[in-house]
Amino acid sequence: MKNITQKLSDAEYEKNFEELISPFTNNAAVVEAIRCLYCYDSPCTKACPTHIDIPTFIKKISTGNILGSAKTIYESNWVALTCAKACPVDDLCEGACVLHEKGEKPIEIGRLQRFAVEDFLNRETKNLFDKKPTNGKSVGIIGSGPAGLSCGAELSLLGYDVQIYESDKIPGGLNTWGIAPYKTNRADSLKEVELVKSLGVTINTGVTVGESISFDDLLVKHDSIFIGIGLGESGILNISSENLSGVFDAIEFIREVKKENWSAVDIGKRVVVIGAGNTAIDAAAGAVHLGAEDVKIIYRRSRAEMPANDFEFELAKNNGVVFQFLTSPVKIYGDSCVEGIRCQKMELGKNDSKGRRRPIPVPNSEFDISCDMVVFALGQNFKAEFLQSIPDIKIVDDKVEVNPESFQTANPKVFAGGDCINGGKEVVNAAYDGKQAAYGIDKYLSNF
Ligand SMILES: Cc1cc2nc3c(=O)[nH]c(=O)nc-3n(C[C@H](O)[C@H](O)[C@H](O)COP(=O)(O)OP(=O)(O)OC[C@H]3O[C@@H](n4cnc5c(N)ncnc54)[C@H](O)[C@@H]3O)c2cc1C
Repeated sequence: MKNITQKLSDAEYEKNFEELISPFTNNAAVVEAIRCLYCYDSPCTKACPTHIDIPTFIKKISTGNILGSAKTIYESNWVALTCAKACPVDDLCEGACVLHEKGEKPIEIGRLQRFAVEDFLNRETKNLFDKKPTNGKSVGIIGSGPAGLSCGAELSLLGYDVQIYESDKIPGGLNTWGIAPYKTNRADSLKEVELVKSLGVTINTGVTVGESISFDDLLVKHDSIFIGIGLGESGILNISSENLSGVFDAIEFIREVKKENWSAVDIGKRVVVIGAGNTAIDAAAGAVHLGAEDVKIIYRRSRAEMPANDFEFELAKNNGVVFQFLTSPVKIYGDSCVEGIRCQKMELGKNDSKGRRRPIPVPNSEFDISCDMVVFALGQNFKAEFLQSIPDIKIVDDKVEVNPESFQTANPKVFAGGDCINGGKEVVNAAYDGKQAAYGIDKYLSNF
């Protein structure tokens, strides 16, 4: 890279990467829990994709029954700590809180969930539920992200032998390697991994299905398979010089940041991030926290079409990230290192097939942005090659097709959930899919 930002002190890195939302103290948690109205129709529960019985867990906090509160949460969600910290609560449970209608602040459901779950995870004994006796059947799970972990935890309680196969040396999927450090850190994710292991699930790390072991071998070895492989690397644009030093894939860059060895990550003085989803925001925030002086996000549509939610957008702006809308990259230039990016102004035309206004280049509007680093955050690719090799499953619009209740694919022995079936949503959706798929698998295998 041409111009690398000077390294910060350890204390500065710690401060820059500290969690945005602090935990509740005991007293503050109880005071907040007492504000809950325990609504008869609990819109918060309906708004949660895993349908946690939110009023009940909050009521238990208000009476000091913190373990009971955690049990209520885990009945619905096995990655409840990550969800407590990383869910877009404004759009989900807290957004649905009836206190909005009374002109009051909604209950801080995410923070209360974190309070109960952290209390539980810090305990020595982790037995919340009785386990059914071993039934002699075995399930192979591909991927240890939230979908795979949730499926594995539930199946283990139902009496199955569960083997998770995970490419990475460190499990947890994007909970470990993707979610921005100001929300959750690796230690949080690994606590959830340990919880699932404590239920009897085996995680075979460093094993890539399709390379280290074939899918056909898994089909022979196990009675059923769950696919929770998420998505792949970020897509890149076909513009010249993507292989100059200083060009990065957002997922890889965020992974480096999540290693928490911040001084080892070189960061350009001037950074341009291409894309406008939450991954782009996380990459831009990471660059700011590592000390970059000037961070821009360029996006070819306008704010109205931008996929990132309001919370993330405002956060990035407050961090000093500059948004340059209606701007499309044309070419990255430089000798051996990135020196800048040529862009073109855009205007919005008629809706495309997805209902979003189509960006149209403005003639003769090219201009250059000087920079040292370019990060592609264009959405993750579907793992087409691997998935297409699996016998008899159906793929539609780059998503594995499943029965929406059982999560069974067109191959009855194979189930799937998480990002590989929904194209990339949230942790809470993957958690739900994995748990429901476990019930689907149990129903399927109970017929034999
Ligand atoms: C940068 C970023 C930030 C995000 N921030 C948030 C957030 O703040 N809040 C939120 O709710 N969601 C967030 N998400 C989305 C969320 O992380 C995903 O929706 C969720 O992790 C999907 O879970 P999953 O189990 O389907 O897949 P993943 O978490 O991707 O896990 C898949 C696992 O499968 C493994 N694997 C893949 N192929 C194979 C193979 N062939 N053999 C063995 N193992 C394999 C992978 O190594 C990986 O560990 C973010 C996503 C990204 C990319």
